[in-house]
Amino acid sequence: MASIFTRIIAGEIPGQFVFKDPLWVALLDIAPANPGHLLLVPRAECALLSELPPVTLQALGGYLARATAMLRRVTLAPALNVVVNDGAAAGQLVPHAHLHLIPRFPGDGTFTHAPGGAYAAGELQSWGERLRLAWT
Ligand code: 5GP
Repeated sequence: MASIFTRIIAGEIPGQFVFKDPLWVALLDIAPANPGHLLLVPRAECALLSELPPVTLQALGGYLARATAMLRRVTLAPALNVVVNDGAAAGQLVPHAHLHLIPRFPGDGTFTHAPGGAYAAGELQSWGERLRLAWT
């Protein structure tokens, strides 16, 4: 079944779009963390970012730069969160990859960092080695 975003893009469900381009669209989140909260959504329906077609991923940087600058200008937010919930365990509710662009203001209390954990002795280095190996 088509995702809610595919259905909104198709016009089956209303959406407040900022743009609809061939690869990416941007629309307002219906339940904003702050006013102006945008969703940057690829037309290609894949659950995870890494599953998107290369051409779609290649275009992402340009949209991110332009959309974040536009949001700062319009909302006067001094900061933004760019958030991807990439998989259900990360809080992804809609299994159609997307980025949240959330205007942030000092003390708005909208979003907080998860408390950081700690590595056991040697664990930081071994994770570094493991990831460097996987990268090559
Ligand atoms: P996720 O947890 O998957 O990263 O976030 C999904 C987002 O989609 C949520 O912030 C939610 O408010 C938004 N959303 C869900 N349904 C709709 C809808 O019908 N219209 C719009 N504009 N946003 C939606």
